Amino acid sequence: MQNKKANRSVKPIYLDYQATTPTDPRVVKAMMPFFSESFGNPHSVDHAYGWEAEEVVDKARQQIADVIGADPREIIFTSGATESNNLAIKGLAHFLRDNPRILGNGTSRNRVVTTTVEHKCVLESVNRLEREGFEVLRLPVDDMGLVDLDVLAEAVTENTALVSIMAVNNEIGVIQHLSRIGEICKAAGAKFHTDAAQAVGKIPLDVNKMQIDLMSISGHKIYGPKGIGALYVRRRPRIRLEPLIDGGGQERGLRSGTLATPLCVGLGAAAQFANEEMFGEYDRLSSLSQRLREGLKAGLTGIHFNGDPEQRIPGNLNVTFDDISGAALMKSVPGLALSMGSACTSADLDPSYVLRALGLNENQALSSLRIGLGRFTTEADVDGAIDILTAAVKEMRP
Ligand SMILES: *Cc1c(COP(=O)(O)O)cnc(C)c1O
Repeated sequence: MQNKKANRSVKPIYLDYQATTPTDPRVVKAMMPFFSESFGNPHSVDHAYGWEAEEVVDKARQQIADVIGADPREIIFTSGATESNNLAIKGLAHFLRDNPRILGNGTSRNRVVTTTVEHKCVLESVNRLEREGFEVLRLPVDDMGLVDLDVLAEAVTENTALVSIMAVNNEIGVIQHLSRIGEICKAAGAKFHTDAAQAVGKIPLDVNKMQIDLMSISGHKIYGPKGIGALYVRRRPRIRLEPLIDGGGQERGLRSGTLATPLCVGLGAAAQFANEEMFGEYDRLSSLSQRLREGLKAGLTGIHFNGDPEQRIPGNLNVTFDDISGAALMKSVPGLALSMGSACTSADLDPSYVLRALGLNENQALSSLRIGLGRFTTEADVDGAIDILTAAVKEMRP
């Protein structure tokens, strides 16, 4: 703890953009009026304060919908991707449990299919469904981090209610074949949910082309504020969910409670900026991550980059440093803010289950670090990271 405090005096180079992103100053600016002068309740229908708030919330809904090819009426505001994932997965399963549709063969849809590399909030949601009696299949990924589509096609039977597969992995940056997954789900009549927290605004997404029925979005992963997210819920054909929160019936009855107007505005603005700047940012981050990869390879032997080299977002590198403890390496580079994997589990020292799923052994997983680049990363940051990491690894190796 003492160490942590001492290091707070100098700000390290931020290389943890998959854990969270700073709120873009343009987003903060857009949000500001809705904390103070324009404080109306967007659900107040009797006066101008309420109408003003409702109008900006509707605009935000449109901005979010535009990024994924949806209709604004299909966007439900939540507190973040954790809640969106819970609502999608449990909401769909519980609705079907309470309103079963008996299939031709006398059974109902009781199966949920997911992967072993999902975010904890998806894995824990399906764990709960399993305890409640649902059949859960957790599919492996190959050594590049991709789901085998033939295995998926076999797993998704006519008894499958839901398939939940993330768009982009938060530890290794790998992009799944969403369109192909959508086709497989459609063919079996199963609903397709994707956790797109790491994908929105980084890669093109289209819920219709990709045949996605439910999509989770997080504000703080796309330079928006923390504490807000969204769930896309398809209207045609309509996806029915049981709400997690009951109350005044806001958000089409799916998520009661007064909307946080400033946060909604922030998520909308963040989505729009990310979308407008997506291709430029993609190219910029691609060359920065290439510079980082080349720089590390030039100075060090015994390093490996995890996850598919092509099917990936450019702002993520997951690196194994042979014979080095990732935890010790992190401690020896206080000038860099990076992590061993997901932020939720960074307190414990278990090897990453995502890297283990790729086939890395325990030691290799514990020798790996996640480096996240983003909107405010500069060439100087990357060069600094190369120098600091190279020197530290050389120092630690015999
Ligand atoms: C961050 C993240 C989440 C959780 O999002 P919150 O908005 O923090 O609840 C879920 N899934 C993935 C892939 C994430 O990266």
